[in-house]
Amino acid sequence: MEKLQMKTPLVEMDGDEMTRVLWKLIKDELLLPYIDLKTEYYDLGLKHRDETDDQVTVDAANAIRRLGVGVKCATITPNAARVTEYNLKKMWKSPNGTLRAILDGTVFRRPILVKGIEPYVKTWEKPITIARHAYGDVYKAVEIKVPGPGKAELVFTGEDGIEQRETIQEFTGPGIIQGMHNTNKSIESFAHSCFNFALDAKEDLWFATKDTISKKYDHTFKDIFQEIYDKEYKEKFEKAGITYFYTLIDDAVARVIRSHGGFIWACKNYDGDVMSDMVATAFGSLSMMTSVLVSPDGKYEYEAAHGTVQRHYYKYLKGEPTSTNPLATIFAWSGALRKRGELDGTPELGVFADKLEKACIQTIENGDMTKDLALITTMKDPHTCGTEEFLACIRKTLEELL
Ligand code: NAP
Ligand code: MG
Repeated sequence: MEKLQMKTPLVEMDGDEMTRVLWKLIKDELLLPYIDLKTEYYDLGLKHRDETDDQVTVDAANAIRRLGVGVKCATITPNAARVTEYNLKKMWKSPNGTLRAILDGTVFRRPILVKGIEPYVKTWEKPITIARHAYGDVYKAVEIKVPGPGKAELVFTGEDGIEQRETIQEFTGPGIIQGMHNTNKSIESFAHSCFNFALDAKEDLWFATKDTISKKYDHTFKDIFQEIYDKEYKEKFEKAGITYFYTLIDDAVARVIRSHGGFIWACKNYDGDVMSDMVATAFGSLSMMTSVLVSPDGKYEYEAAHGTVQRHYYKYLKGEPTSTNPLATIFAWSGALRKRGELDGTPELGVFADKLEKACIQTIENGDMTKDLALITTMKDPHTCGTEEFLACIRKTLEELL
C-alpha cells in the first residue's frame, strides 16, 4: 500500500512519562507505516521546557496559530516535587494554560464509547461533550477573610473617575468575601468556539447558568450567547438541523441525566470543572476521554484528557509490565489528522482517521483491552493486554480494515 501524503504539517507536541512512551509506540505502530507523516516537532517534555526556559511551549502555540492544527502528548505540570525530581530552574507554568492563553480557546471534552463499557447512566447512548469556559470567575477571584464586624463593599472606578459602589454585607461578626470577574471579550470567544464546534459536530448546543439569581453576572453570559447566536449562527444552525438551547443550570443537570446524550454542554468555568469529572466518570474511565482546544478563529489542538500516568511510568522504568490505555492519545492523533484533511482538502486522511478509531473500538469490543477497562467491562472473560500487546492488537485490526 502507498503511504498517504500530507500537504500541511501538524504541530506535534511531545510530552512526558508514560504518555511519551505511548507517543512513540503509536507513531511507530499505527501512523508511520501508513502515512508519510509531516509534522513540525516541538518537544514539550519537562526537561526540554526547562532547557528552553519554556520558550518551546510558546513556539508550539504560535505554530498552531500559523498551521491551524496541533496534537499534544500529556505533559507534567511542575509542582514542588517535580522541581526537585527534574532539578528545574523554576516551577514552570502549566503548558496547557500557556497554550490556552495564546490560542484563547475553549476546551471540549468528549468520551469514547465502546460496547461493553457501559455508562453508569442507563439512558446515555451517545457521547456528551462538555465545553468548559477556561477563563475567570472563581479561578481568578480575590478573597478576604473578614475578621469581625464591618462593612464590605464592591467598588468599580472607571477610567473617567466615575465610581459604582454596592454594599456586599454589613458584617456583625467574622465571615468571608470573594470578588470575581469575567470579560465580555472572553465570553464572546467562548460563545463563538461553542457555536462553531456544534456546527462542526452537527450536534445541539446546550448552555446553562444561574441567571435568575445572578441577574447581572450570569445574565451577561446568557445575553452574549443569545446575541451572537441570533446575529451569526441562527441560520447556520437551522440549515444544519441543530438547535441552541438555553436553560437554568439546575434544570440542565436534571435534563442531562434523563437525556440520551449526543449534544454539547457549554459550561461556565466552575460548572465545567465539576461536571466534566462527573461526566467522564459516568461514561466509564478517564483514559477514554478526549480533549480538543478550539480557538474562536478556528485553530485546533487535540490531546487526551488524562495526565502522564506517572505510576505506570515508574513501573515501566523498573522493567515491570504495564497496561496503559492509549485510546485517548490515539484519538488525539486521529482527530488532528481528520481536521488536517478537512482543511487541506485531503479527505483520505479523514478516511484513515475513521478506520484507526474503528480499529481501536473493534479491538476492545473483540475482548482485547487494557487493565483499566478490563476492571469495569460488562464483557465476560476479557483479555487483559500489556501496553505493547494492546497496540499490536489494534494494528492487527487496522490492517484488516485497510
Ligand atoms: P493521570 O496521569 O491522569 O493518572 C491518574 C490515574 O488514572 C493513573 O494512575 C491511572 O490509574 C489512571 N489513568 C489515567 N490515564 C490512564 C491511561 N491512559 N491508562 C490507564 N490508566 C490511566 O494523573 P496524575 O497521575 O495525577 O498526573 C500525572 C502527571 O500528569 C502530573 O504531573 C500532572 O501534572 C500531569 N497532567 C497532565 C495533563 C495534561 O497534560 N493534559 C492533565 C492532567 C495531569 P492507576 O494508577 O490506578 O492505574
Ligand atoms: Mg476538575
